[in-house]
Amino acid sequence: MPCSRPTLVAVMLELAVMLTLTTRLCADDGADAEPTSPRPRITAVDAAEEKEKEKDPSAPGLDDAAWRKTLDSLATRATARGHEALAALIGAWEIPEFTDRQVVVTIPSRLETPDWIDEAQSPLWGEFVAARRRHAEATFARAVEAAEAHDRPRTREEQRVDSEAGPKPLARRGGEAIALLHRTLRDDPDHARARAIGSWVKRGEDWVSTSVAKRLDRGEEFDAAFGWLPRGRLERYRAGERYESGKWVTAADDDAQPRTLKKPWRHESDHWRIRSSAPPAAAAALAAELETSLLIWQQVFGSYAWDPAELERRFKGRGRMPVRDPYAAVLVPSREEYVAEVTKFEPAAIRSDAIYWMPTKTAWFAVMPGDGGGIATAEARTIRHEGAHQLFAEARTTSPLAGERCGFWAIEAAACYMESAVPTPFGWTLGGPDAGRVPAARERLLDNGFQIPLEELAALGRRELQADERLPQIYSQISGLADFFINGQGGRYREAFIEYLERVYTGSVSPDSLSQLCRRTYPQLDDEYRRHLAR
Ligand SMILES: [Zn+2]
Repeated sequence: MPCSRPTLVAVMLELAVMLTLTTRLCADDGADAEPTSPRPRITAVDAAEEKEKEKDPSAPGLDDAAWRKTLDSLATRATARGHEALAALIGAWEIPEFTDRQVVVTIPSRLETPDWIDEAQSPLWGEFVAARRRHAEATFARAVEAAEAHDRPRTREEQRVDSEAGPKPLARRGGEAIALLHRTLRDDPDHARARAIGSWVKRGEDWVSTSVAKRLDRGEEFDAAFGWLPRGRLERYRAGERYESGKWVTAADDDAQPRTLKKPWRHESDHWRIRSSAPPAAAAALAAELETSLLIWQQVFGSYAWDPAELERRFKGRGRMPVRDPYAAVLVPSREEYVAEVTKFEPAAIRSDAIYWMPTKTAWFAVMPGDGGGIATAEARTIRHEGAHQLFAEARTTSPLAGERCGFWAIEAAACYMESAVPTPFGWTLGGPDAGRVPAARERLLDNGFQIPLEELAALGRRELQADERLPQIYSQISGLADFFINGQGGRYREAFIEYLERVYTGSVSPDSLSQLCRRTYPQLDDEYRRHLAR
């Protein structure tokens, strides 16, 4: 489809406006509506597992019922021996299945044995660990199979014909492969082949990312309060000293120094480099939330960063993930300072309180007044939202024209979806009828009859969407749509939606891409979306 191409400078300016659509602007849409009760079970992964079982019922360890039975029997034996804590741990090990939301798990850096496991409990603990390892092995086999399950890469000639005829769906299950990889590591944090896929390496007893390994190899030391410090400084930091401009000063003197972004505090976390004119504790809290955002994003959208053939190679133990430079973020101590700083390059800064600025690949945040508990920094959902924009933009080569011509809604939808993360004992859940802005979407759809047809929405470029006077309602709807495409009907469209995002971000999207990828007409998808929210 022909379209007029603005100059690069104009695009950058427009992009700036596009990326300004942030929490403050989006927050006016009733996101705090009363949550509804959670619904029952079964994730897309599990639905896919069902299919796998049909295909290969004899595969070892694939039987989830047998796995649960093993856990039940171990828990019963622990109870019979009076090991109540161990029984409770084993009984709660398997994550409930959800039909309506996604599961994200925390992965320990090593197999942790609770310090209360004594000699009497040790044999049962050993059986539990062995059972987890067997289960991890079976899960890993499924992960590899999912990574292999994609259409063969197209030849150059086929790609040329495709691009002339419009995008063609490319079957893939990369999202499922990555989810299963993480479930493998939850059961067995020492699973070497699974670790190798994510380029985790071992340092001492712990599995760490290659970037962390590089720091450790240089002798750097980490403390959540100070971030990574060059060799030999941590002890003195903990004792109340700070190293500034080539000399040691007391923490009190350092804290008393007024800071600007020209002379900021610096905080380096595993994957972010933060410049901050806000107090160090606020920067540390921002860093921790950004790292959490990465962990969640990798499990939800991680396959976005990989071409299917590349993903398959990785899952077969070939290739390496490149070590990337840290992501850049800036933190200022108040919204007023945020507006003053960001207005220098983004005239619409007044409408936002955070931004991911593509031209400099930097996420900007302001410390917001906290609720009194914990350290005040930017709001967690703002950090997830802008963190998502940053990760999508930088996790692979993307187009500066992403979303300009059409498909812009999906860029915001994916970021809004990241806001829906809810902490759980095993990690987080994302999505669901009661999470994020979905209740507002439901209210607007069912009570007010607000629904922009997907055909119209998918055709909008950034400028048209942002100029739309229905913007708050649109933000509710796109949040509902993200939940539909990721969790609706057992995750049926999840992989297609991730591929759609990839096409939006790489500039290879057309107005009908989503319909083609889902193999449904837009009116069919509109109807299914309505039913999804009306459940
Ligand atoms: Zn946004």
